[in-house]
Amino acid sequence: MNMAADQEMNRSMKRDEEHAFAREQFLQLLRHKQIHTVYQPIVSLKDGIIAGYEALTRVPEDSGFESPVRLFEYAEKEGLIYPLDRLARETAIRNSLAMGGRELLFINIPAASLQDPQFAAGKTIELLRDRGLKPEHVVFEITERSSIHDFAAAKQVLEHYRSQGYRIAIDDAGAGYSSLQAIAELHPDFIKVDRSLVQDIHLHKTKEYMMETFVAFAGKLHIEVIAEGIECEEELLFLTRMGVHYGQGYLLGKPGTEKADVAPGLIQQIVQQRKLHDYAGSA
Ligand code: C2E
Ligand code: MG
Ligand code: MG
Ligand code: MG
Repeated sequence: MNMAADQEMNRSMKRDEEHAFAREQFLQLLRHKQIHTVYQPIVSLKDGIIAGYEALTRVPEDSGFESPVRLFEYAEKEGLIYPLDRLARETAIRNSLAMGGRELLFINIPAASLQDPQFAAGKTIELLRDRGLKPEHVVFEITERSSIHDFAAAKQVLEHYRSQGYRIAIDDAGAGYSSLQAIAELHPDFIKVDRSLVQDIHLHKTKEYMMETFVAFAGKLHIEVIAEGIECEEELLFLTRMGVHYGQGYLLGKPGTEKADVAPGLIQQIVQQRKLHDYAGSA
């Protein structure tokens, strides 16, 4: 065998080994349920009150997956998303902070998992019920990592949940695959606008215009807008003045395992900026 072919074979064997190793690590994580959930507040930009919490999965540092994004990407690529997603949902619901009160629990559902027979069959509903979470307390956030290939089937599953009182959010709007047409057709209760449009929105006219478009579009369809990834006061105040309904981000509260508090100074500023928005609207 010549040297080039030899090297190629070595590389290929190494790739197979790495592949097998990643898979073993993933299965290990599933088997031993080595994930946990943190909860990040979602705050009303009308009054600064916490409206709910988004459940976000965390992986141990030595798991070989450096972030939940990597973990979920890997699972989707390998066709292993259903079992991971089931575990993530189960863990999120079991440890949920939002109980009894009026706070909402936002749960991430990749579009791919809408086709999971177990999700469609309502296993999740059982878990929620056991935890005392009524349909009106729960919002499913739909993320598309790739475009929904069976849109009609996905829509049907969502309609089933909505008919029982659960609410739907389209996640990462403005990035990714969700077109305005898809949003109009799914007609969710919330649109979560991606952090890439929120970051430094006060400095970029194009971001401002895109956000304005979402707010106007959502307003016509009676959908509420949530801005993701708010990190500084300028962004928060700007979005509040624009009439964005809810905000989420490190400035308002980091993901954690306890219920959060929004800084009183921020609440005061939200209320003030909101008045400016309402005044401009009525003038
Ligand atoms: P996502 O659903 O859009 O979640 C928002 C992400 O933004 C979270 O990252 C959150 O920690 C982060 N974030 C929130 N505020 C800020 C901020 O002010 N600045 C910055 N830089 N980031 C902020 P995280 O937890 O790493 O999750 C990333 C993505 O992984 C999520 O994006 C979601 O697509 C996926 N994911 C996480 N947990 C789950 C889960 O339990 N199930 C599913 N299916 N997907 C999940
Ligand atoms: Mg989300
Ligand atoms: Mg999101
Ligand atoms: Mg996002």
